[in-house]
Amino acid sequence: MSRVLIIGAGGVATVVAHKVAAHPEVFSDVLLASRTQSKCDNIIKSLESRGLKKAQWQTARVDADNVPELTALMEKFKPELVINVALPYQDLHIMDACLAAGVNYMDTANYEPLDEAKYQYSWQWAYHDRFKEAGLTAILGCGFDPGVTSIFTAYAAKHHFDEIQYLDIVDCNAGNHGKAFATNFNPEINIREITQRGKYWENGDWHETDPLSVHKALNYPRVGAKESYLMYHEELESLVKHYPTLKRARFWMTFGQEYLTHLRVIQNIGMDRIDPIEYEGHQIVPIQFLKAVLPNPGDLGANYTGWTSIGCRIRGIKDGKEKTYYIFNNCSHEVAYKETGTQGVSYTTGVPATVGAMMHLKGLWKQPGVFNVEQFDPDPFLKELGPEGLPWEEIINGDLEL
Ligand code: NDP
Repeated sequence: MSRVLIIGAGGVATVVAHKVAAHPEVFSDVLLASRTQSKCDNIIKSLESRGLKKAQWQTARVDADNVPELTALMEKFKPELVINVALPYQDLHIMDACLAAGVNYMDTANYEPLDEAKYQYSWQWAYHDRFKEAGLTAILGCGFDPGVTSIFTAYAAKHHFDEIQYLDIVDCNAGNHGKAFATNFNPEINIREITQRGKYWENGDWHETDPLSVHKALNYPRVGAKESYLMYHEELESLVKHYPTLKRARFWMTFGQEYLTHLRVIQNIGMDRIDPIEYEGHQIVPIQFLKAVLPNPGDLGANYTGWTSIGCRIRGIKDGKEKTYYIFNNCSHEVAYKETGTQGVSYTTGVPATVGAMMHLKGLWKQPGVFNVEQFDPDPFLKELGPEGLPWEEIINGDLEL
């Protein structure tokens, strides 16, 4: 029986709220707080329409960038854990407030400064000693990727290999939302991530590539062949640190031609700019304006069909012999929508965040300091993940294609 504060009221928060509400035996009292309180209230209405609102729920308006305001909210509600599903810009402010109010912390995406598209864990890892001294746990990156992909890697290292050597994280969204262009999570964060230079780990060093310049067709279970593009993704940083036997670690994501054409136009006309420009006497940031006119990712679910398929393809040594291992989940957009009113990408992020919160509240992932999810025991998490809606499958000694 625990009190939790969920921060954010977007697509991922909607899924977290639905999953949390389904477990009143774990989450007894819930405060859903975000910048726009009416969005929190709408989530509550959705829970009520599904007969899910059994726990004690409240909503509040909060600016998560305002540390004193957030600290006061935490001191009043006294949660045991904050589930941060706002935006990566808020991570450090929320961690500061957690330290001030004595609350444990969890997120799904690493901190990113607003004025620079730069993803690295150093800012959050720097909080380790303060969380440790306060006797508080901070769990970083508990969505799908980062999150489940990191836990899949930990599970493979624990049960399937004596030494893991080659890791390829493969992220395929083979769904169709029927729009000419839309992003599956926050458009600003998504476009900033995809347009950066590619980067992968090989032989003890990082290697950079031009954005989306390296690609190949990969076959995904029950989906088929999809062009997959090498990108940098944040879990690579923590995984190469925690698994030093890795000779190579890469991340691949699928994109359709229509999406890439729109992205190229957006870049060519400067709509992906993250610096403020002067417009009719106002300062506006082009990518933030673009977000305002693009479809809301949280509203894509109604017409979304098809699957996501995300997993880890790993090669290494077991009992002196080379072994390959592919562990993945396929998630149906339609099933996700039926259950939570959101599409599969929000679902595959919100379910792991809820399971991670359960791990902490049950005392299984509880250790003072700041940790990436692969540093905890993967077994209890993966045992819960399937029953919570994301069953996983394995292929042993198959062709990894990579
Ligand atoms: P949305 O943009 O749909 O939702 C973000 C929410 O945060 C909005 O409700 C927004 O408020 C709120 N918010 C923003 N700024 C503040 C603030 N200063 N104070 C309080 N609330 C604020 O994003 P998503 O739900 O798609 O994504 C949520 C998080 O999940 C992101 O960090 C994203 O990077 C991460 N993610 C992780 C994935 C993974 O696999 N690890 C995959 C997909 C997403 P308002 O409604 O007023 O705008």
